[in-house]
Amino acid sequence: MISAVMPTYGRWDVAVERGEGAYLYATDGRRFLDLTSGIGVTSLGHCHPHVIEAVTAQAGALWHSSNLFRIPGQERLAQRLVDNSFADTVFFNNSGAEAVELALKVARKYQSETGHPERYRIIGCQGSFHGRSFATLAAAGAENYLKGFGPVMDGFDHVAFNNLNEMRAAVTPETAAILVEPVQGEGGVRAPSADYLKGLRAIADEFGLLLVYDEVQCGMGRTGKLFAHQWSGVAPDVMAVAKALGNGFPIGACLASEKAAVGMVPGTHGSTFGGNPMAVAAGNAVLDVMLAPGFFDGVAAVATRFRAKLEELAAAYPKLFDSVRGAGLLLGIKCVVPAGDIVAKLRQEGLLVLTAGDNVLRILPPLVIGDREIAAALDIMHKVAREWPAA
Ligand SMILES: *Cc1c(COP(=O)(O)O)cnc(C)c1O
Repeated sequence: MISAVMPTYGRWDVAVERGEGAYLYATDGRRFLDLTSGIGVTSLGHCHPHVIEAVTAQAGALWHSSNLFRIPGQERLAQRLVDNSFADTVFFNNSGAEAVELALKVARKYQSETGHPERYRIIGCQGSFHGRSFATLAAAGAENYLKGFGPVMDGFDHVAFNNLNEMRAAVTPETAAILVEPVQGEGGVRAPSADYLKGLRAIADEFGLLLVYDEVQCGMGRTGKLFAHQWSGVAPDVMAVAKALGNGFPIGACLASEKAAVGMVPGTHGSTFGGNPMAVAAGNAVLDVMLAPGFFDGVAAVATRFRAKLEELAAAYPKLFDSVRGAGLLLGIKCVVPAGDIVAKLRQEGLLVLTAGDNVLRILPPLVIGDREIAAALDIMHKVAREWPAA
C-alpha cells in the first residue's frame, strides 16, 4: 500500500524532533551532528535565536496579506539584497525552482522587449541542478529526472560545465541567456576554474545574451561571501537564490539588474505566497546576522580549516577517498568506494552528511560551525574510514 506521504524520497530512518545549532535530535532520543543543514538551508544552525524572535514577533502581527498590498518587510529585504549585490530589483518566491523559473522568464522577456523575440533559448551546463519544475528540469537536462514525464520543454541547450569553448560554440541566433551555478551543488560539488565566469560574461556580452546565475545552493554566505560569484567579481544580469535565505522558512528570490528587468511590468509575474510577511521576516533576520561585520570572514576562515582537515583525511585513506573539492563550506569529497555507503555508515555513527552526483560525499555544515564540532565530525570520519573493510 502506498504511504500517505507520496513515496518520492528514499528517506533515512531518522524521525526528526528538534534541532539546536549544528545538532539534530530524533524522536527516539538519538543525537546527530548535522552537516546537511537541511540541504544548505539552515545556514545559521537549527533554531537560531534571532530568527526565532523575528518570525515569532511577525506571527503575532500579520501572517499574510497578498502582494496586492505594500509589504514593508519585503521592501526592506529587497533593498538590502539590492544594496549588497549587482541587482536593482528583486521578486520573492517560495522556492529555488520558482526563483530559477522566474530568472528564465526575465531573460526571455528581456530579449523580446529589446527587439529580439526570436531569442528564447537558454544554454545550461551538464551536471547542474535547477529544481523539479518542468522548465528547471529541462534547464538542467538530467535524463534521470526527466524520464517518464513527457516531452521535455523546448528551449534548452547543454554544454560541459567549465568549458568556454563549448559554451561559445553553442550560441545561436536564438540564444537568450546562459544559465550557470557559480559552484555546482547537487551535480557533484564542482567549482569552475578562476576565469570561467569572466569568460561567460564575455560571451554573453559579445552576443547580447543575459548571464543568469543559480546561487540557490552556493549563495547566501555558503562560500564565505554573500554570493559565490563575488569571489570572481563577475556580476550576472539575473540571479536566483533561495535555500539559506530564510534559514528554513521557505523563501526564494530572483534578483535582476534594471536593464534585465525591463519587461517586468505590472501583470507579467505574480505569486500568492511569495515574499509574505513571515518569509521576509525570516529573510531579514538572516541578513541581520550575515551582514554583521566579520561574519563572512569567519565563514571563510572556518572553511579553510575544515577543508585542510578533510584533505588530511582523504590523503590518509586513498582506498576510500580520491580528492576534496568545492568552495567555502560547500564541500565535497570524491569517493573511490560508493559515497552512499560511507554516508550511511557515518549516519550510524551520529554524523549526517549528503551525497552529490559523480560519487561525491557532500558536506554542508551550518556556517556557524565551530572548531569543536569540526573536530567531532572528523573523529567520526576517521573512525569510519579506519574500520572500513579492506581500507
Ligand atoms: C536546491 C536547488 C534548486 C531547487 O530549489 P527548490 O527549493 O528545491 O525548488 C535549484 N537550484 C539549485 C542550485 C539548488 O541547489
